[in-house]
Amino acid sequence: MYLSLEGIEKNFTNKQNKRLLVLDNIDLEVEKGEFVSIVGPSGCGKSTLLYLIAGLDKPDKGNIEVQGKKIDKPSPERVVVFQEAGLFPWLTVLENVTYGLLLKKMSKQEAEERARKVLKMVHLSRYVDSYPHQLSGGMKQRVSIARALVMEPEVLLMDEPFSALDEQTRMVLHRELLEIWRETKVTIIFVTHNIREAVQLSEKIVVMATRPGRIKELINVPVTKDGIMPDSVTLHTEQ
Ligand code: ADP
Ligand code: MG
Repeated sequence: MYLSLEGIEKNFTNKQNKRLLVLDNIDLEVEKGEFVSIVGPSGCGKSTLLYLIAGLDKPDKGNIEVQGKKIDKPSPERVVVFQEAGLFPWLTVLENVTYGLLLKKMSKQEAEERARKVLKMVHLSRYVDSYPHQLSGGMKQRVSIARALVMEPEVLLMDEPFSALDEQTRMVLHRELLEIWRETKVTIIFVTHNIREAVQLSEKIVVMATRPGRIKELINVPVTKDGIMPDSVTLHTEQ
């Protein structure tokens, strides 16, 4: 299996110093090139699960492996795209995207070549020299996606990346993300609290239950991609 989570348990301590079980015995398997969505209500542990896969935090129990390697630290191979683009305001679009490559000691010329290629994929070729404050919210998220893709990640992790955008921009970005996915065959794990968004994007949907954070069920959605939610999904998740 390309990516596997086995028996993941994660606890936090709350303000009253009480232990809070956030993820309880999570198992999940993802194949290379799959587009998996994780849905569930706010607070059910979606972000926590994603950050464990990113290596930003460690599980208390269980094992996470990507391509047979245990994950125990963050890596540019497993970048997260957050709800806030988090771009460097003092760098241009191109510089924001080459930043990670230059840190990895790639030559400036090669880094810029690669950055221009991914910026073209997100339709920002005309904005390479713009600064973040000159961009709309949707454009900033495109830069954030380009910045992640340029690292050729083994898995692209997305934490509600479009939640702050208006409906129309979100629809456009859904289409673009699906194009990118088909073109690059990158493995994507997409977290959202919006079941409709999950259905529009992916064939495999992991539904998390509220508390403790468990996987309630796994749905394989028939490919619709037209935004129409199959009745079966409504039935399964709104109980
Ligand atoms: P979701 O992304 O599904 O909204 P989170 O993974 O952010 O949920 O959080 C799950 C639960 O864990 C929440 O109850 C949250 O308050 C708690 N939690 C998350 N991170 C921490 C932390 N660093 N310390 C304490 N509690 C946390
Ligand atoms: Mg979250």
